[in-house]
This record gives sequence, C-alpha cells and structure tokens, in this order.
Amino acid sequence: MIDHPRRLLLQLAIVLAICGTGRLAYATDAGDGVDQPAAKAALLKAYPGLFTISGNVLTWADGTTMVWDDGKARDAEALLESPDIEDMFRYVYPTAAEGALVPAEDFDPGRIRNEAFFEKLYGKSAADVGKHIANVKWLPKLGKKTVQVTKVFGINDRLGKISDVLEAMPAELSRYGLKPGGGFVWRPIAGTNRLSVHSFGAAFDINVGFSDYWYNNRNKTNPKTHIPFKNRIPLKIVELFEKNGFIWGGRWYHYDTMHFEYRPELLLYKKSG
Ligand SMILES: [Zn+2]
Repeated sequence: MIDHPRRLLLQLAIVLAICGTGRLAYATDAGDGVDQPAAKAALLKAYPGLFTISGNVLTWADGTTMVWDDGKARDAEALLESPDIEDMFRYVYPTAAEGALVPAEDFDPGRIRNEAFFEKLYGKSAADVGKHIANVKWLPKLGKKTVQVTKVFGINDRLGKISDVLEAMPAELSRYGLKPGGGFVWRPIAGTNRLSVHSFGAAFDINVGFSDYWYNNRNKTNPKTHIPFKNRIPLKIVELFEKNGFIWGGRWYHYDTMHFEYRPELLLYKKSG
C-alpha cells in the first residue's frame, strides 16, 4: 500500500531525529497509522481462543465486549492514560535484530496499555491474579533466587527457559540476571494511577544494578525537557527475552531498561507495505 504523504512525513521525522541526536533514532509515528488488519491478526494470534474481533467489537468467550477503536484522537499523554485497544499498536515495536537504537521523543511501543484488556487476561485484583502466580527458580546455580510470575500463557515456564539459557552464558552476560528486581507486585506505576504490568505477574525486572529509568533522569523543574537516553543492557540479553515473547523497556523514550513484559502481540505486529 502506498501512502506518499505519510511516508514523506515519516522520512522527515527520521531525518530530523538523526540530525537532532547525531545518532541513529527511531521515527515517531504520531499519525493514526495503525494497520488495522495486521494489528487485529497479531492480537488474535498472541492470545488464541480467548476472544474474537468483528469490525469494531472485541468479544470475549464469556460474552463481554470491548470497543476496538473508539475513534478518539489522543496525544501522547492521553494514549498512556486512557487508550482503546487499537491504540496499543500506535508504535511498531522494533526487535533486537534492528540493533541498538535511541528512541525518538514519546516513542513508547508497549507502554500504551488498555488496562481492562489486561485485567481480562490476568485478573482484576491482587487476589484474582494471585491464583495464577507461580514460583520460578531464577539462575538456580548463580543467584539462587526465587521469583514470582503468572502461569497464564506459560509465562513462568518462559521465564524458566530464559533463566536456563542466561545461566549457561558467559559471566559477562549472565551477570545481568543477578540481583533481579522481581516479578509479581500489585502496584501502580510510579507517579501514576495506572497499574504496572508487574501487577498482572506478566513482567520481570533483571539486575537492578544495571538499571536506567527515565523517571530518575527527567528534568524535575521542566518536565518538557528532552530526556537523555541511557542503557547498559546488552542486546544479547534483550534478544533472549524477545525470543520468549517479552518486550523490553529499553525500546521506549520513557525507558526502563531492567524491565521486560510479556507482549507477544507487539512482537508479531508488523505493518504491511
Ligand atoms: Zn519492571
């Protein structure tokens, strides 16, 4: 599909981003550029058998319905606060294969989450989510930690598999798994009323000693100031998590580099054309 004006804008955004930082950067895609069929297909494939999508309505197996796209225009702030389901595909998540990139302003693929959708997947209270929480032996030889994540979608087994591979890696890589920040905690995201994905047991933080978090590096007197990107996590670690269905918080302008969360729909979603 050829969409010249939008493509030109995108190229302009890339050029501006590269000129602005002097480093390779992501383009922002602030337009309503969601590829609807591709996004719906990715969501259905990521969470098979749980719901159907017909036109603008997502219907869960128990009959509950949700609106796919409410048609409201949202700025970056509103996308985080009150996104519809379609908005979760606003930014295309780049994979490790695309290399070490510096996110452009407000480029936050995966940070946009429709909370009602996740409550339906994992539970809508600490007690609900807690019914599915399992212990995972994390780096049993090196670190001997037990961490908690949900069994839903085999997330506990996926994390166990990551642990096995990470533990067999050379020490200069396996050390990024030591001192893990942890998995399941029912809590809001710092400074917001929104639930963290840790609340659903679907996120995991690796070594807190190598963590960089945008919130700590923001300009506190002038919050509009560009946040400098920082990261100490190697792509080999990122790749390992991505292979097992997790996205990385280091792909975000509002970065959280120790953070990984299970979001297969974003790993599956690619725009056509
Ligand atoms: Zn986290």
